[in-house]
Amino acid sequence: MKPALFDYVRPASLEEALKVLSAGDDAAVIAGGQSLLPMLNLRVASAETLVDISRLRELKTLSETEAALSIGALVTHAAIEDGLGRDSFNGLLQRIASKIAYRAVRNMGTIGGSLSLCDPAADWPVCLLALGATIAIASLEGERCLAVEDFLVDAYTTALEQGELLVRIDIPKQGDCAWGVGKVNRKSGAFADSLAIAVLGKDCRPTRVALGGTASCARLLAGTSAALDRQPGIGADALSGIIAEDVAAAHEDATPYQMRCHVHTVTCAIAEARSWSR
Ligand SMILES: Cc1cc2nc3c(=O)[nH]c(=O)nc-3n(C[C@H](O)[C@H](O)[C@H](O)COP(=O)(O)OP(=O)(O)OC[C@H]3O[C@@H](n4cnc5c(N)ncnc54)[C@H](O)[C@@H]3O)c2cc1C
Repeated sequence: MKPALFDYVRPASLEEALKVLSAGDDAAVIAGGQSLLPMLNLRVASAETLVDISRLRELKTLSETEAALSIGALVTHAAIEDGLGRDSFNGLLQRIASKIAYRAVRNMGTIGGSLSLCDPAADWPVCLLALGATIAIASLEGERCLAVEDFLVDAYTTALEQGELLVRIDIPKQGDCAWGVGKVNRKSGAFADSLAIAVLGKDCRPTRVALGGTASCARLLAGTSAALDRQPGIGADALSGIIAEDVAAAHEDATPYQMRCHVHTVTCAIAEARSWSR
């Protein structure tokens, strides 16, 4: 199928893009186009105007302070895979980027597009939850920042409002970051059936265990994270019960998802176990 007709604009500056976005009710941002174009073709998404932000150089930068790494919304998965900037997270960002889809998709797909789409099975939302990132959102009124857990609202739903653009992701630095990943997908590069990432707490930083592939969006497993902080050597048996409770809470009605819940419990346990080896 072909998409319904739309107008197309390609602004040269952030201000111009924000003006176009705030002018029309039915304007959609296009970044790498890896998800939006198929959705337009299948007519599960539509827009009167497509605002192509791919020329906004200010969203393609990566910068670092002592406290945080800032990644522009238009930085591609491939750029992170190739090590753009220093990975202050012991290789976690590169590991996540390199397992998304295949290289052609990674060359075009952007970290900002992935977050804004909020696909329940996407990799970046889980990773950025585990790292405690903050999302910077611009509009004509200025900039506001949200913790990633407040940005991700539900499957394919974020806190972005009309006229707003995700511009940057700020990730607090972790020192010697100890992380583990548990991922189940049916073939290499496919979306995850289950993805769990654990980042262990150190130096007053809490442990954060995040899970993707649930019925809604990626979410933090609060009980599991707190249990690992209270009792780091809690042991697999005690931990698996706590993980199972968190996983069941992530599926509002867990009954149809019993098999999926079991897989999530296993990926979370794998992520936790692997985090100790780093
Ligand atoms: C074959 C295939 C396999 C894939 N496999 C995986 C996978 O295994 N794991 C994974 O995580 N992802 C996967 N993806 C998704 C892909 O990695 C991209 O992250 C995703 O397509 C979105 O990035 P994009 O830049 O292409 O966004 P687009 O497709 O351009 O946009 C996606 C949505 O986000 C909005 N948007 C984009 N940028 C912004 C912004 N800055 N501010 C506000 N709104 C914005 C758009 O309006 C649109 O609604 C796959 C995609 C394909 C085609």
